Amino acid sequence: MKYYTLEEAVKGACGEGIHIAEGKAVYGGDINRAYRLTLSDGSYIFMKCNNIKNFSFFKAEEEGLRALRAAKTIGVPKVLALGTDKKRGISFLLMEYINSGLRVNDYSETFGRELAMLHRAKTAEFVSENGELSFGFYADNYIGASPQKNTPNSSWAEFFRDCRLLPQMERAEKKLDAELKRKCEKLLDKSESLLPEPEFPSLLHGDLWSGNSICGSDGKAWIFDPAVYVGNFEAELAMTELFGRLPNSFYGVYNEINHIDPGYEERKDLYNLYHLLNHLNLFGSSYFEPVRQVINRYV
Ligand code: ADP
Repeated sequence: MKYYTLEEAVKGACGEGIHIAEGKAVYGGDINRAYRLTLSDGSYIFMKCNNIKNFSFFKAEEEGLRALRAAKTIGVPKVLALGTDKKRGISFLLMEYINSGLRVNDYSETFGRELAMLHRAKTAEFVSENGELSFGFYADNYIGASPQKNTPNSSWAEFFRDCRLLPQMERAEKKLDAELKRKCEKLLDKSESLLPEPEFPSLLHGDLWSGNSICGSDGKAWIFDPAVYVGNFEAELAMTELFGRLPNSFYGVYNEINHIDPGYEERKDLYNLYHLLNHLNLFGSSYFEPVRQVINRYV
C-alpha cells in the first residue's frame, strides 16, 4: 500500500498511537539517504528516502524484497510501507530494522547454505503469468541507480545478452573506443556459446556485493538492497567475488547444495562484466580498464 505522508505510513504500519521520536542517519549506501527511526514505543525501523520523483526506485526495491522474503530461506527485512511525502519532497521505503550481531563461527557456512536454498526456491510466479518463461522478472527494476531490464525469456543466454550486456553496452557507447565497440559486438554474437543453460532457474538477489549483507542479531546473514530477477545462480556467485570474495567455507557449503560447475571459473568475469559496465556508466572512467580487460579475455 502506498502512503502519502511519512506520519500516515508509520501509523499504518506500526499502529495508530505510534509516531517517530528520533531519526539517526545511517551511512554506507551509495544511492539513497537512510535513517534508523526510533519510534515512540522505543522500537526501531529503517527508512530509505530519495527525491519524490524517484519513487520507482522504492517500488522496485519493495517488489524485490517481497520476492526474496517469500522464499523463507534467508534473512530479508520485512517491508513496512512505501510512499511519497509531498510536503517533504521525498519518496520513502520503511522496513524492518536489522539489529546487527556478532558473526559466530559458522556464519559463512550458514550464509552459503541459506543462499543456496534461496537459489532453489520456486521461481515461476515471479517471471511470467503462465509460468512458461524461466528467466527475468515480472517487472523491470534497477541495478544501483541504473534501469535494469527483466523481460522474460525462455533462454538464460539470450536473457543475459539482451537484458544485461546489451543495455549496459549501449549506455556505455560514448565511453568506449571504436576497437572496444567492435569487440562488444563480437562478444554479444558469441555470448550464447559462452553461457550454458542452468539446470534450474534461481531467484537471485541480483546485487550481492559485500555491502548488501550484514550479520543480524541472530548471528546469520541478512541481505538487502536487491536487484531481483530469476537467472543462473552462477551470476550471483560471480558478484560475491567481484569486490572481495566471501570465505572459502561459504562456497564449500554452497557447492554441497548447488553444484558449482568447474566451467563457472571461465564464465564469472563475463557475468561480472555487467556490473563493471554498470559501474563505468554510473561512476565513470576508473572502470574503463577493468571493462577493457574482461572484454579482451573473451574476444
Ligand atoms: P543504498 O540504496 O543507498 O545503496 P542501502 O540499502 O545499501 O542503501 O542501505 C544503506 C546502509 O544501511 C547499508 O549499507 C546497511 O548498512 C544499512 N541497512 C540497509 N538496510 C538496513 C535495514 N533494514 N536495517 C538496518 N540497516 C540497514
